[in-house]
Amino acid sequence: MKRFLCLSIIVCIFLSCAGCQTQYQETFFAMDTVVQVQVWGRDGQEAVRQFKSLMQNMEDVWSAVDETSVLSAYNRAEVELTQSQKTFLDQVQQLSKRTDGAFDPLLGGIVALWGFYDDDYKIPESAAIQNAPRLWDLGAVVKGYAGQLAVDMLESMQVERAVLNIGGNIQTYGNKTDNTPWQIGIQNPAGGDPVGVISVMGTASIVTSGDYQRYFEEDGVRYHHIIDPETGFPADSGLSSVTVVCRDGMTADALSTALFVMGLEEAVEFWRKSDDFEAVFILKSGQIYATQGVCLTDCAFEVIPRED
Ligand code: ADP
Ligand code: MG
Repeated sequence: MKRFLCLSIIVCIFLSCAGCQTQYQETFFAMDTVVQVQVWGRDGQEAVRQFKSLMQNMEDVWSAVDETSVLSAYNRAEVELTQSQKTFLDQVQQLSKRTDGAFDPLLGGIVALWGFYDDDYKIPESAAIQNAPRLWDLGAVVKGYAGQLAVDMLESMQVERAVLNIGGNIQTYGNKTDNTPWQIGIQNPAGGDPVGVISVMGTASIVTSGDYQRYFEEDGVRYHHIIDPETGFPADSGLSSVTVVCRDGMTADALSTALFVMGLEEAVEFWRKSDDFEAVFILKSGQIYATQGVCLTDCAFEVIPRED
């Protein structure tokens, strides 16, 4: 069985920051992924330190992979959660409801069967999928949530601006000195240079879910890590990636996963009923679609209008 584990950074960030003040940056490994942080401002160094500690805490509490995490113990019914932890899970459930279950935070039993926790990949029997226990797995939201918590933290500090790259989840904070937008490249699912560039002003979360991020192949078929809750199999929606741009990191993360499961048509319908995000879709064919509010450049794409 061929194995692939793609922990690569999903996007390239093009930062032009004329005349900016002191910049602090660090790259480290947390929450099973590579994290890059760049912060400008007087409290930059302290912000990086606190952000690292925040990431460590997120991993200790919410990892589904680490058997010693609070979430794993909660899945085994060994611990009670604190009030704020329960509130967080309530918010997660709300997002699941909003997506009509396409984002499903209780797929842990199924994700484990596929071997995505221990990299011992295998195609499960359908009976095993049907009987899999409903266990919490917050892999689809926790990086976005971390970005959101980081923004709350940065707001309380002397920080001018920051960019966080949490395993491809990009969180921008503040404006550049020359007031030009942050420019974020969208990874080409087929590899190579980014396929396009998204521009955003100020604080925003830009999150991509794709079938190339974590997968294995067997008999020429790719089995990736985004599961369709209706089948228990990797979502086969015709999409290769979905990028969501949203003010709120956790929403961006949950929706990128959910829209991937839904597929283009259903996702567009969902977007038309919403007013808090924009999205870029890359089909398996390579064709690119962008909702009308996205500022996308450097690629050919079709605009999805608000009205049908
Ligand atoms: P990534 O973590 O690579 O950025 P996602 O945000 O799309 O990608 O999250 C995928 C992870 O979320 C999977 O590794 C799995 O743990 C979990 N997951 C898979 N399918 C779903 C789903 N339909 N709803 C919620 N979580 C999911
Ligand atoms: Mg997600």
